[in-house]
Amino acid sequence: MLRIPFKRVNWITSIFLVTTALMALTVVPVYLFKHGIDWFQFSMFFFYAVATTMSITLGYHRLYSHLSFKAKWPVRLFVLLFGACAFENSCMDWTSDHRTHHKHVDHDEDPYDISKGFMWAHIGWLIFKMRPEEPVNNIGDLQKDKLCVFQHKYVHWIGFILGGIVPTAIAYFVAPLMGADPVTYAIGGFLLSGVLRIVIVQHSTFFINSLCHTIGKRPYNTDNSARDSAIMAVFTCGEGYHNYHHAFQHDYRNGVKPWQFDPTKWMIWTLSKLGLTSGLRRVSDERILLAEMREAGRQATRKIEALAQSTNHAITEKTAEVLHTSAQRLSDSYSELEKAISDKVEVSKQMMNQWQNETRELVRHIASMKGIKPASS
Ligand SMILES: [Zn+2]
Ligand SMILES: [Zn+2]
Repeated sequence: MLRIPFKRVNWITSIFLVTTALMALTVVPVYLFKHGIDWFQFSMFFFYAVATTMSITLGYHRLYSHLSFKAKWPVRLFVLLFGACAFENSCMDWTSDHRTHHKHVDHDEDPYDISKGFMWAHIGWLIFKMRPEEPVNNIGDLQKDKLCVFQHKYVHWIGFILGGIVPTAIAYFVAPLMGADPVTYAIGGFLLSGVLRIVIVQHSTFFINSLCHTIGKRPYNTDNSARDSAIMAVFTCGEGYHNYHHAFQHDYRNGVKPWQFDPTKWMIWTLSKLGLTSGLRRVSDERILLAEMREAGRQATRKIEALAQSTNHAITEKTAEVLHTSAQRLSDSYSELEKAISDKVEVSKQMMNQWQNETRELVRHIASMKGIKPASS
């Protein structure tokens, strides 16, 4: 029988998480059923949802945790204020946990270690303090940042006022213009732009730690559990491409392909054109392709080994041959590209395209052999 270690329960966090989730599932639908939602309430909800999500993804995550670009003070102030409204702790606490996550991913020291189970990585780690608080020694840079120190000190007040009181007050004063009762409209502002928005933003972040370490593809690296999920990218302003992110954590982009949905990347880029961000760090196309080639080669090797052990010999020989030839071609290209990178020789666009196509072809071959499970993966 599962025994809950009550002594270790983080009561304040737990009560907050449970109360807001219950309200989002009960009081919010009742309010919506009785009063509906007009364009103003929806716009305010949408603004708050995007502003808080982006403050976490662009601010807490890509700016402060990974230093993937530099930002002027108005950007830093905005993300620290609206980041507080997500109620995911202060930027200093969040960054400390997140840097530890990258350093010890899938191991015991990882705060949201997926090997302890889906629910642990999603929310369990916040509810139970399983280990004593460790001295924070990985955020020396943030401790020197005055805005970060200020936010750390007043984070709950900022979240409560800007994330709860302000939308309630705005709704109250806008109500007469919308022909609504001020008190009812204010309750709507609180429930939608406050409570519902907090629950959605929080669980979207939590899903990165749980779902994006469980379901999805791993085109860049299978050494850790991080996965790419296009669906999660939609809910998290582009953070769903988590396999790429764990492979190249200092890149300001998570969705690195032109067709991938990454509004956080687009926002950082746009702000750089306005002079508000600078020093955007990017991994070169050559290095990204090299990682993809390496991973496709490794996956092909595992498939070939599994095929060799397969009892159905007729299928084995034919499919193994196709896979083997394709893997061999890719392996030669990999060596060429690796040499070009180390010699700092510029690779032509044509060669890049050819190698990209070879990689995709091999990945397609591997995918078409779904029935045969690799012996070890
Ligand atoms: Zn991760
Ligand atoms: Zn990260």
